[in-house]
Amino acid sequence: MIKVVKFGGSSLASAEQFKKACAIINMEEARRFVVPSAPGKRDSSDTKVTDMLYQAYELAANDQPFNDALKAIKTRYDEIIYGLGLEISLDYEFKKIAENFKVKAGKDYAASRGEYLNGRIMAAYLNREFIDAAEVIRFDDDGLYDARVTEKLMRKRLEGLDGAVIPGFYGAFADGRVKTFSRGGSDITGSIVAGAIKAEVYENWTDVSGFMVADPRIIDNPETIDTITYKELRELAYMGASVLHEEAIFPVRKEGIPINIRNTNAPEDKGTWIVESTAQKPRFTITGIAGKKGFCSVNIEKELMNSEIGFGRKVLQAFEDYGISFEHVPSGIDTMTVFVHQDHFMDKEQKVVSAIHRLAEPDSIEIESDLALIAVVGRGMKSTRGTAGRIFSALAHSNVNVKMIDQGSSELNIIIGVQNQDFETAIKAIYDIFVMANL
Ligand code: ASP
Repeated sequence: MIKVVKFGGSSLASAEQFKKACAIINMEEARRFVVPSAPGKRDSSDTKVTDMLYQAYELAANDQPFNDALKAIKTRYDEIIYGLGLEISLDYEFKKIAENFKVKAGKDYAASRGEYLNGRIMAAYLNREFIDAAEVIRFDDDGLYDARVTEKLMRKRLEGLDGAVIPGFYGAFADGRVKTFSRGGSDITGSIVAGAIKAEVYENWTDVSGFMVADPRIIDNPETIDTITYKELRELAYMGASVLHEEAIFPVRKEGIPINIRNTNAPEDKGTWIVESTAQKPRFTITGIAGKKGFCSVNIEKELMNSEIGFGRKVLQAFEDYGISFEHVPSGIDTMTVFVHQDHFMDKEQKVVSAIHRLAEPDSIEIESDLALIAVVGRGMKSTRGTAGRIFSALAHSNVNVKMIDQGSSELNIIIGVQNQDFETAIKAIYDIFVMANL
């Protein structure tokens, strides 16, 4: 059995955290391939090494002295090396980094050194082979991740190895220039390695015991989700629930490999399983609740709209013309409402309004701002009657006025629009009725 294990920045922020991570790795022989992040924050006031590297490179790019900034980064690593009792030195590596900064090797190169160096330390501590991600993860000339070439390179390189450490977050173009994924991208690397070697499981170790049913900033100590499908996760992530990089799903999903989110600080917790499909009944009717504030609704009215062919297209054309993507479009007989992100829409609103008038000739347009959208997601909703009824009676009891309702035809989610000020109350009411009442 092969498991790929990825450890996030907070799991590797200090020697102490490193020891926890490596104890977890050594606990199971199957945990053969390890993908580390760069050292993250040791406490809330700390700075991630990745951010320190960006800042240091910014100095170099502007021809300002950057040696002190690099020294501070080296100290972070030296503390880890010392704490682990290792004999290695990063003097040579930092000399090379300074040289490359001088010739302006690029922001991506700079940021990638965070995981590169952490990988070096981890490989030494675990006594496993180090594989530079630049060798095995490839980007094409347009800067897009090249799955076909990467899979080939990765399989060939890892073939026959008992184990290895492959740093997260970056890869390279064919000519060797380093390129990173977007922030949080070590999750993607872990998924790519797991997919390429067809691992049984991709374990993603972080500082929480999996996905929570609701945002812990709103709900005190929310329950953890045992099992979630990729589709449910997508719905929740889109609405702001984030533990895993969005692009980390595809490489493992394609191979039918489950992801297990685990907590380095509580390894006995089972965490959350992310799977394609499952016969396991969810613990509650709903799997999760997530939401975002800051939406506007554009309400368009026109008599006999329902019989006018092409009306919807013309309205949406106005949004497209100004590069605004829409979130939801609930409609009535003679009304149609378009939900958009307030901050994308604000400075173009009058232009969009006149474009709608020009293209679709409506009777009136009304804009409402400061709205929030809440997604109630769950594969269990399909086979349960009364879910929508329960949501709305809970909201009514909490004095929340519902502005919009949208149920996807998959019956996987119900989207509710409320005023920003009712957002937290609404989430609490929904959590209480489905989770608290069923504990
Ligand atoms: N170190 C990178 C970041 O801070 C990548 C990662 O941790 O996944 O974004």
